[in-house]
Amino acid sequence: NREWHLLSRPVGWPKPEDFALVEAEVPTPGEGQVLVRNAYLSVDPYMRGRMSAAKSYVAPFELGKAMQGGAVGEVVASNAEGIAVGDHVLHFLGWREYAVVRAENAVKVDPAAAPLSAYLGVLGMTGLTAYAGLLRTAAFKEGDAVFVSGAAGAVGSQVGQIAKLKGASRVIGSAGSDEKVKLLVEEYGFDAAFNYKSGPVGEQLRAAAPDGVDVYFDNVGGDHLEAAIGSLNQGGRIAVCGMISVYNTTEPAPGPRNLARLIQTRGRIEGFLVGDHYDLQPRFVAEVGPWVASGALKYRETVVEGIENNLEAFLGVLRGDNTGKMIVKL
Ligand code: NDP
Repeated sequence: NREWHLLSRPVGWPKPEDFALVEAEVPTPGEGQVLVRNAYLSVDPYMRGRMSAAKSYVAPFELGKAMQGGAVGEVVASNAEGIAVGDHVLHFLGWREYAVVRAENAVKVDPAAAPLSAYLGVLGMTGLTAYAGLLRTAAFKEGDAVFVSGAAGAVGSQVGQIAKLKGASRVIGSAGSDEKVKLLVEEYGFDAAFNYKSGPVGEQLRAAAPDGVDVYFDNVGGDHLEAAIGSLNQGGRIAVCGMISVYNTTEPAPGPRNLARLIQTRGRIEGFLVGDHYDLQPRFVAEVGPWVASGALKYRETVVEGIENNLEAFLGVLRGDNTGKMIVKL
């Protein structure tokens, strides 16, 4: 049994020396617990936040202990009622091969209904993030023009497609490579997309959305947010989901210079956390599940194999190596 520990809190970009892959005993499940052999591990941008000591909505990872994250696996020993050996469960003790999980922290998932990895992505946390952020926080309505950044990633690719399926007048995405941009337009049905590395975001957005945007779903922050405020229509809404462009900065990043445009546009900016929106989970599964099954909503995964590559996979998410959800397969 191997597990990834955080040894020191990264300053700026995380370095391999901040982490160690450690040999540990296979734990024994106590009363009310199950032993899970993890099959798929999630690596997510928010984990960068847990590596620092700053107070946030979730406690920092403890130094010298196994890190945590979403995972799905098979129950190989059970000491809990309602969960049997052979069941598959979603839980929160990733970054390791074997986990002992309390039954109330394990959610049974059906490997026949969807591939196991989908419960970490398109039908899991990142999918619900897209759904809740677009429909509830940004109050999307039919006819809206929607701009989403990080559009080839797990959350962003789903935001754009849900908007399209629900009658957006125009969907625009930005991503960090020409290949990703091509995927957005040719496979995911975005009306326009641009590579934010190819030129100023504000100019590229104005060209892609000449009539402005009603909704901006922010995964990135920085100049993307400023550009979106610059293109915001009357009554526009900005849902702040993430700001990955500042996760590794060592100094506070400057804010948008054009916030005053919110006055004339009566615009609204609101942050949200998916954890506050699990009441939408049944609706999300009922609505998005069939789109995924029918192929109306497409998704990709970037799958990295082996626990030894768990850290590299995480760093890859921060670099943009992934298209769609980044998954570690054990
Ligand atoms: P993604 O699959 O989108 O992976 C992250 C992507 O960010 C990379 O692939 C990369 O793509 C892009 N990126 C990296 N650096 C930059 C940069 N400087 N500028 C622009 N893009 C960059 O991750 P997720 O879908 O899991 O998460 C997307 C966002 O949503 C993150 O900000 C995350 O923190 C946030 N989030 C928030 C939640 C909430 O509850 N509020 C829940 C889940 C996620 P590229 O090649 O295009 O640069």
